[in-house]
Amino acid sequence: MRIEAASISFSYGKRRILDDISFSADSGSMTALLGRNGSGKTTLLRILLGFLQPGKGQVSIDGTSILRMKERERAQRIAYIPQATVPVYPYRALDAVLMGRSPALSLFERPGADDERKAARALERLGIGHLGNRTVDTLSGGERQLVMIARALAQEAGILLLDEPTSSLDYSNQLLVMETLTALRDDGYTILFSTHSPEQALMDSTAVIILSGGKAAFHGSAEELMDGRILSDLYSRQLFITRVDTGKSGRIVCIPE
Ligand code: ADP
Repeated sequence: MRIEAASISFSYGKRRILDDISFSADSGSMTALLGRNGSGKTTLLRILLGFLQPGKGQVSIDGTSILRMKERERAQRIAYIPQATVPVYPYRALDAVLMGRSPALSLFERPGADDERKAARALERLGIGHLGNRTVDTLSGGERQLVMIARALAQEAGILLLDEPTSSLDYSNQLLVMETLTALRDDGYTILFSTHSPEQALMDSTAVIILSGGKAAFHGSAEELMDGRILSDLYSRQLFITRVDTGKSGRIVCIPE
């Protein structure tokens, strides 16, 4: 599925937060949203989801404006995965994933056997089928984040939006979540995530959008950021970016002076 933002501007009161932002992302693509605190990443994600209405511009999915879709239609196309949090209620992981089926159900309809199968399949797809009966409060942060991604898969939306999907996760769980997203990208999902990690944004074949001063100050490929100039400007630090041969395809690392 293709998501397109056309000339999005947004203000809180008189304060302009986003100014004429345009981009699009297609099936099988991954886009990283970088920007300093307060640069408008969360605001942009909320606009893409239709939670906030832009003052100007529009968001469309496969050519149809999201404002012309009912909430349920939107949810069947685009899923949101919030930052990892410690859950308040000790739901079973399978039940948490089943909640992703609600856009497919009518108002008082309860999930049926088919929904349960889809939820179980989503857990299995992410390699955590064995966690279905565990309550989410007993899972590790990384496992919980995979459950949230499984919930989005059960929703059967083709576009996944993630707000700092690895914040508060330890390093190995960060890798696990990013590798999971890459695999989903390769399966044809459209993935867009915000991050504070330049290295996550510099993963191979990832498009990068840098928000700064309300503008998309950069929109391009990781390769175009390799000279370090743009990221050094963004973080007000001299940064060196280099590719390290890891024996596979290699990884790009970002090192401060
Ligand atoms: P980021 O996710 O990049 O940190 P945000 O989108 O959360 O940035 O915020 C962008 C700016 O909008 C910040 O200056 C923030 O203080 C402001 N802001 C966010 N939410 C509100 C709100 N509900 N009312 C007024 N200002 C807000």
